[in-house]
This record gives sequence, C-alpha cells and structure tokens, in this order.
Amino acid sequence: SDAAALVDRLTAVVPDFPTPGILFRDVTPVFADAEAFSTVCAGLAEPFEGGFTAVAGIEARGFALAGGIAAQTGTGVLTVRKAGKLPGEVLKESYSLEYGEASIELRPGQLPKGSRVLVADDVLATGGTAEASITLLERAGYEVVGIAVLLELDGLGGRDRLASRVPVHALGSAP
Ligand code: 5GP
Repeated sequence: SDAAALVDRLTAVVPDFPTPGILFRDVTPVFADAEAFSTVCAGLAEPFEGGFTAVAGIEARGFALAGGIAAQTGTGVLTVRKAGKLPGEVLKESYSLEYGEASIELRPGQLPKGSRVLVADDVLATGGTAEASITLLERAGYEVVGIAVLLELDGLGGRDRLASRVPVHALGSAP
C-alpha cells in the first residue's frame, strides 16, 4: 500500500541506539512529512474504521499517531503514559524489558465502560509494551479492538504475543 511504502522509504535505521548492538528504527521522518503522516494515520485506522470511539497512544510517539488517527476518524484520545506522569487515580502495569522492568499507567474513568479503543504505537518489538497497554485498558473496562503500528520488527515475537488477545495491524515490517 501507499502507507507501507512511505513507512519503508522514510524510516531511518540508526545503529547502536539507544545502546550498542541495537538497530533503532527512527520513524519521526514519517511524522514530519504532511502527506506521509496523513496517509499512515488513515492506513492505521483502515481495518478498524467505525469500530472504535477512542485511540490510546503509547508514550511518546504513539501520542502523535493517536492524535492523527483520532482527528481523521472523529474519535478521542487516551494516553498510556510512563509511570509517574499522571495525576490522581491511576492504573499501573509493570512488564519486563530485556534488562529490568518498566511501568506504564492509565487514568481510568475517562470513557464509559465498554468503550471500544484502538491502541496505536510506532514500533512493535517484543510486544511487552503493547501487551501491558491492552491489560491496562481492559482493567479500565474498555474493549480493545486492535493494535495498529507503523512497523513490526520480525523475530521478536510481538505479533504472536498479542495475536491471541487482539488483531495486530502493522503497515510495514523490518528484520
Ligand atoms: P516492545 O515492548 O514491543 O519490546 O517495544 C516497543 C516499544 O519500544 C514501543 O513503544 C516503541 O516505541 C519502542 N521501540 C522499540 N524498538 C524500537 C525501534 O527500533 N524504534 C522505535 N522508534 N521505537 C522502538
């Protein structure tokens, strides 16, 4: 598709970031290009169109995508944040990273229970972040209709980890 070709063409590959041995995919050029950003937001929403009332973005690049998808589809935005950034009552999920642990948080009660929510992020790697996000949204009472990402990284098991819970839609893939 157009969206997949744009992701492929504009994504930069950065060796040894954030640590030696990691091949980082920098998708920010996709956001900077007006036509590309609009096209990928449409492509991310396309399989789920009409099936959700809000898009949950995963901090931080997921926020930009969630905003773009929401504006195009007439839906709202939820923010799944790194721990310690949200005021008031929060739900928290911890998950393992290659080294150590991370935690993300969501404010409950912002939408009616049973609301259908699409999850958006830039890159799906091991799927740990997305899985914890799905759990948070379900704990808040929402129905997660799917996860949409610009790029899935092959061989890290992300899709398999999530596929038993929600449909996974990736515009592109990379080794
Ligand atoms: P996972 O939890 O699936 O292992 O990692 C996914 C999370 O880490 C996403 O929120 C994503 O933004 C970030 N991430 C992991 N690898 C990359 C990468 O190569 N490029 C970018 N842009 N983000 C990555």
